[in-house]
Amino acid sequence: MNQLHHKVVKFGGSSLASAEQIKKAVAIIRADETRRFVVPSAPGKRFSADTKVTDLLIKVHGESASGLDFEKTFAEIKARYNEIVDGLGMELDLSAEFKIIHDQLLGGTTLDYVASRGEYLNGLILAAYLGFPFIDAAEVIFFDENGNFEAELTNRVMSRRLARQKNAVIPGFYGSLPNGAVKTFSRGGSDITGAIVARAAKVDLYENWTDVSGFLMVDPRIVNDPKPIEVITYRELRELSYMGASVLHEDAIFPVKVARIPINIKNTNRPDDGGTFIVPTEKSLKQPSSVVTGIAGRKGLRLIHLEKDMMNQEIGFGLRVLQVIADMGISFEHLPSGIDTMCVVLSGADIDGKEEELITRIKEAAHPDFIAIEDALALIAVVGRGMAGTPGTASRVFQALAKEDINIRMIDQGSSELNIIVGVNEPDFEKAIRAIYAEFAE
Ligand code: ADP
Ligand code: ASP
Ligand code: MG
Repeated sequence: MNQLHHKVVKFGGSSLASAEQIKKAVAIIRADETRRFVVPSAPGKRFSADTKVTDLLIKVHGESASGLDFEKTFAEIKARYNEIVDGLGMELDLSAEFKIIHDQLLGGTTLDYVASRGEYLNGLILAAYLGFPFIDAAEVIFFDENGNFEAELTNRVMSRRLARQKNAVIPGFYGSLPNGAVKTFSRGGSDITGAIVARAAKVDLYENWTDVSGFLMVDPRIVNDPKPIEVITYRELRELSYMGASVLHEDAIFPVKVARIPINIKNTNRPDDGGTFIVPTEKSLKQPSSVVTGIAGRKGLRLIHLEKDMMNQEIGFGLRVLQVIADMGISFEHLPSGIDTMCVVLSGADIDGKEEELITRIKEAAHPDFIAIEDALALIAVVGRGMAGTPGTASRVFQALAKEDINIRMIDQGSSELNIIVGVNEPDFEKAIRAIYAEFAE
């Protein structure tokens, strides 16, 4: 079999939300025989007020776990799949599969198992329709007993399995624990499965099919019709997706980075659009036309503000503060510091209800002169490989915000010169993004 020119194609939820959408995906797969391995998500929204199957599954598990009647929600899930099977004109009978899931719900199964059935069932349908073998992700993607993804074991087992296949459908979003139980990635995790399959199958390209024609400079729900990004590096993309650009799961970069496989983000509804290429950082990469590649941000953060005279001379102050945070099982997001001040940015959801304890324990451990946890903060990352060596980018960001009367609560410039991060009050978030975009989108 020709080892060159082959691709993994991952389709997102909206690309597989209905029979009509699945037909588009199938036409894309069939149009190019190098599209050998297919990774489907669960059916997503058919229209904006619709509910994703994954959310219905989470709901049905919640109902059954609380002893509520879950039949109505279960019927809704079945109806979604039956509508797809009928719409595709297939004979496929999923009733035995539904019975297994129903029995598992009655037996008190885990949320991960139930949530994973969205991709599992969609994978069965797609495999049958395409005539491709179905490979259950639980047999080829592994987590350790603590739930950490086992990259190397997975790669060994999956490479061996895929080497024997011309084609296959491998459902996204989940794998298994050492005891065989299903474990999912975090939400949006089918992107990670696509990257894992791309690495294991040693493909030349990982096509990620979604509902936008690639990565746009900024979230299209905030700025109307933003400029598309033609080429972006893994590092820039990781910064943007970590900061909230939800097109691609932030952890999807790692497996393909090891193998230096480019990702092409494509639009299932407009397959001829070029989309965005995500590539390794290379010297040969042509200089981007704009200093800023993209802008993304996240709400729901909190800032711990610490002051202490002569902090700069006190060995271990920062360490003691971070130790408390780690001991409480919280991870920090950013750490901008001055000479006698230090700020720690944390996720609001992580510290909700733990503020008092956090303050008390930091006071005991590090004796700051001042400590306060401030109000809701939003962070905005301005990212671009073109920023290195282009003076004045930071001041353009600040001026753009000043012009709109937006107060900057925090600034953090990565030493990589790849990003500038500013913190603004949560209510200013959208306005700040628009102001920065307007400054840099030429
Ligand atoms: P899928 O279901 O195919 O995985 P997602 O919903 O996860 O798709 O990701 C695509 C969505 O990401 C787009 O519909 C868009 O609303 C959103 N999005 C956020 N930031 C950006 C951005 N910078 N460029 C393009 N889309 C973005
Ligand atoms: N279906 C899962 C979710 O909604 C995974 C994915 O779509 O990537 O999060
Ligand atoms: Mg997604």
